[in-house]
Amino acid sequence: MSETRFKTLRDTPLEDYLTPGSPLCAGCGGQLGLRIFHKVLGRNVVFVNAAGCLTLMFVYPYAPLRSSWMYTAFASAPAGAQGIRDALDILLAKHRIEPDEDLKVVVVTGDGAAYDIGLQATSGAIQRGLDFYYFVYDNEAYGNTGFQWSSATPVGSSTTTTPSSRFSPAGSLAEKKDLFEIWRAHKPPYVATVSVAHAVDMMRKIERSMGMRGPKLFIALAPCPTGWGFDPSEAIRIAKLAVETGVWPLKEAINGETRHTYIPRALRPVEEYLKTQARFAHLFKPKKQQEIINMIQERVNEYWLRVAEAEGITIKLATEVK
Ligand code: SF4
Repeated sequence: MSETRFKTLRDTPLEDYLTPGSPLCAGCGGQLGLRIFHKVLGRNVVFVNAAGCLTLMFVYPYAPLRSSWMYTAFASAPAGAQGIRDALDILLAKHRIEPDEDLKVVVVTGDGAAYDIGLQATSGAIQRGLDFYYFVYDNEAYGNTGFQWSSATPVGSSTTTTPSSRFSPAGSLAEKKDLFEIWRAHKPPYVATVSVAHAVDMMRKIERSMGMRGPKLFIALAPCPTGWGFDPSEAIRIAKLAVETGVWPLKEAINGETRHTYIPRALRPVEEYLKTQARFAHLFKPKKQQEIINMIQERVNEYWLRVAEAEGITIKLATEVK
């Protein structure tokens, strides 16, 4: 791996391009992710925003950004990014702008557009080799319309469209779509998962990707106090637990080669993560749904067992399956 300028949190760029104060919920993991992303990319950025929670930061005539922002409908962000990239390339070719005036084109999207509504358009953009960044703040549901199920919703989560009920006590039983692998199958130069609780890891990944041309994906698990049901002050602790329990692996794929950038050598039980959030509360009361908790734990264990085998290392699995 090449040398990095991000060794500790002290190396976080001081320059902030997101101004303080926004109409988003306190403790929003997505907003923090965007802040970090922008710090590393620098000022010369144009964001193309697929409809979602972060759209609410821009209530006319206010925009809390010191760069540029274009709003699009759910499925149109990759097309918007293509148009902007083409326009910039034409201006560069005609010497109407200098190379140092060029902008990085970044799609910002929630999981709704990334996993569901905009997936077809995104697939086309990756296939065309569009030179853009794609930043997903994944809060695992449609957050700004009331926390409805998306295909990023994990097993056991209650949402407003998959509530825990006598017909489905566990809430959602559908598997979360594997966006990392869907992107990787398209063979883009860079694909990564990131966490706002691992900012140094995130900044290094952004830095690494900046030397690459083509589609670059970042999926950030975005703790969502409003939808997940926890106190805003807990956002980072919960993001950390997602990594330590193995629920949210930190990894990257450069030209298709996957490596984990952090491997928890002793997984904490998934229960510790689930218990922190109201969306999983029905798994614990009025009656503990041990079968579902076991199922979630087994999926996590299976994943890390494969990683351990591939890496030739030992990972202590959480095996408190009763
Ligand atoms: S609903 Fe969740 S993702 Fe949306 S702004 Fe609020 S905290 Fe952020």
